[in-house]
Amino acid sequence: MSSQERTWKTIESGPHTYEEALHPVVRKNYGKWKYHEIPKPGVLKHVAESGDTIWTVRAGTPRQDTVDMVRQLCDVADKYSDGFLRFTVRNNVEFLTPNAENVEPMIAELESLGFPVGGTGMCVSAVSHTQGWLHCDIPATDASGVVKSMMDTVYNEFKDMQMPNKVRLSTSCCSINCGGQADIAVVVKHTRPPRINHDHLVKTCELPKAVARCPVAAIRPTVVNGKKTLMVDEAKCICCGACFGACPAMEINHPEHSKFAVWVGGKNSNARSKPSTMSLVAHNLPNNPPRWPEVTDVVGRILTAYKAGGRPWERIGEWINRIGWKRFFEETGLEFDDNMIDSYRHARTTFNQSAHIRF
Ligand code: SF4
Ligand code: SF4
Repeated sequence: MSSQERTWKTIESGPHTYEEALHPVVRKNYGKWKYHEIPKPGVLKHVAESGDTIWTVRAGTPRQDTVDMVRQLCDVADKYSDGFLRFTVRNNVEFLTPNAENVEPMIAELESLGFPVGGTGMCVSAVSHTQGWLHCDIPATDASGVVKSMMDTVYNEFKDMQMPNKVRLSTSCCSINCGGQADIAVVVKHTRPPRINHDHLVKTCELPKAVARCPVAAIRPTVVNGKKTLMVDEAKCICCGACFGACPAMEINHPEHSKFAVWVGGKNSNARSKPSTMSLVAHNLPNNPPRWPEVTDVVGRILTAYKAGGRPWERIGEWINRIGWKRFFEETGLEFDDNMIDSYRHARTTFNQSAHIRF
């Protein structure tokens, strides 16, 4: 190949390496940090083996961001953090600076723009939330709206570090729960099986695909008005909504029958105790936009009881394990019912709950 041909050959390109987005001090000391500390809520101080020091200022964002808001954040980054900023998995924004004198003016400017500085250490950090009406094709509610309502009520818990340990919240706008495990998770719960529109189903859905989606084999082929379609065995259906994702003609969302449930005690880390799965503590809460007061009330009760009774470093699940479920329901004032007992007969009791590698 001549050099001329080589010039015209398409250069294989992918995303830029993440290293280009790191602050130069982070890039230089990558993987060589000596220690870090939290001098005050919303501020982290990292000290490297080389002696370099970098401060991080963390602020909460609404996640669904306007262009104007992004421009404001970029202006703050240009002014105080050498043009570098980054978003965390919980939609906080972080600015890193090697200059200690930049920290306080940056906090003042972020607060004046309406971004609360906090979310570090033993606090309620921003909520990990799913797409809601804006993006996903199957949500029964607006996860972002529930987040806004919840965070308005725990604003001070985001800015202070007064909880026994970190509190991770998540919300999910369908039962598939892509918000995931959390200390407190708010998840949509459908209470009746999907309603099938046979006219649409025969035209829009691949029948085997919809059948294969059902985790409890409740969907079966049938014939209606001489056309091949599907039926749901309602005695078997667990109202998970998985079929609706594969087949829009199996509508499960409903303003009355799609409710909210609150789960507690999820933990992904191995710190102090092994990871744990969540347990249901409230359900049949109405899907009540725009402020979802019933949901925020339940979350507030749990946080108040945990803050008052949790020992230092206890996560919510560890606190409940120590005091017992009976006392949890007494202290939160939530009502227990037998639907909260996990009696699902296919539950994997031998599930490997530790992230440790075993041989
Ligand atoms: S929780 Fe469900 S509806 Fe919401 S974004 Fe995830 S898959 Fe979509
Ligand atoms: S809602 Fe879930 S359990 Fe019910 S039919 Fe659809 S996939 Fe099956």
